[in-house]
Amino acid sequence: MDTLIIGSGFAGSVVARVLAQRGEKVKIIEKRDHIGGNCYDEYDEYGVLVHKYGPHIFHTNNKDVYDFLSRFTKWYDYRHEVVGNVYGKIIPIPFNLNTLMIVFGQEKGERLKQELIDAYGENARVPILELQKNPSQGIQEVAQYVYENIFLKYTMKQWNQKPEEVDQSVTARVPVLISYDNRYFQDLYQGMPLEGYTKLFENMLNHENIEIELNKDAKEDLSFDMQTHQVYYQGQLWQGKIIFTGAIDDFFDHCLGRLPYRSLRFEYEHYPEDHYQSHGVVNYTVSEDFTRITEFKYLTGQEISGTTIVKEYPEIYRNETQVPYYAILSPENLMMYQKYVDYVKPFSHFYLLGRLAQYKYYNIDGIVEEALKLVKTL
Ligand code: UDP
Repeated sequence: MDTLIIGSGFAGSVVARVLAQRGEKVKIIEKRDHIGGNCYDEYDEYGVLVHKYGPHIFHTNNKDVYDFLSRFTKWYDYRHEVVGNVYGKIIPIPFNLNTLMIVFGQEKGERLKQELIDAYGENARVPILELQKNPSQGIQEVAQYVYENIFLKYTMKQWNQKPEEVDQSVTARVPVLISYDNRYFQDLYQGMPLEGYTKLFENMLNHENIEIELNKDAKEDLSFDMQTHQVYYQGQLWQGKIIFTGAIDDFFDHCLGRLPYRSLRFEYEHYPEDHYQSHGVVNYTVSEDFTRITEFKYLTGQEISGTTIVKEYPEIYRNETQVPYYAILSPENLMMYQKYVDYVKPFSHFYLLGRLAQYKYYNIDGIVEEALKLVKTL
């Protein structure tokens, strides 16, 4: 065995596959009873393909990432569109020129549109916190609408913080679009794995040099000597590489403190109707305790009678009985994370990779890109 990989989400699986192709023997250690990390999908009791850990929609501008994943799946040609439910009114999200016309009416909308184009140019992507800085009265009016009806309450639910309190990169993920493009993502490549994510992972990990151990917490088999900086695996000195993709604070028993995360609770519901809502995802930006409802059939393209939806309720992450979905990117938290990075630095063949291990808000493509980059250096 040459390399141990802890976790079988995109981070661990991409590295595993590339190393295996090079002829290295790789072992993946996975705590859960399945591969695929939070992208894992499965058929529910009604035969509907659902994402067990919330909706995951692939999109990228990186051709290398797209080509790499395309080796393991065909794609369902899905263009993700989201609408917001604002006091019963349905509006396209991100806020774009279609939304502008719905909210302000055609005549005023045209005037505001011209102001926005003059200020930012056609097809610009303007984060709400940027838009708010614009002194023009018309743009102020747009910014105020967007802030209050799209960002404020949703962000309070999701993060328990106001939009201006969360890291700016978070709300900038959903900018105001100065265009009529109703898609949630503008990336060149978009789509969903035709047979689902789990199948994609099965194909990626189906290699004679990859061994997978499920239901195993790697902590049980690994020990780290902080004096000699030696690693032991199952009691034996381990001199191979270790790619760690889990939560680093948990892995080292919170010895430098607990890193804060946001978690989610999912409530699934099944309906006998063909469809529950008009779009794959509806965001509840001003009402309800959940942030959004996802109806999986839209995302997966599955043709089946009956439909399954999921409601997402954000939660504080308290302990390991929950899933740490999101890092909370505050300066204090990043400082604590850095201490963990320094803690493992002396272990020369120990690599941190992925949303949890790097305490970062990665999308799927970002993780795959980072994994392909890391593996080149190994
Ligand atoms: N957001 C919001 N209202 C929306 C959509 C997004 O306030 O209708 C904010 C919210 O703070 C959210 C962030 O933008 O956490 C990023 O949204 P995204 O849809 O990218 O979140 P994810 O799908 O990663 O949970």
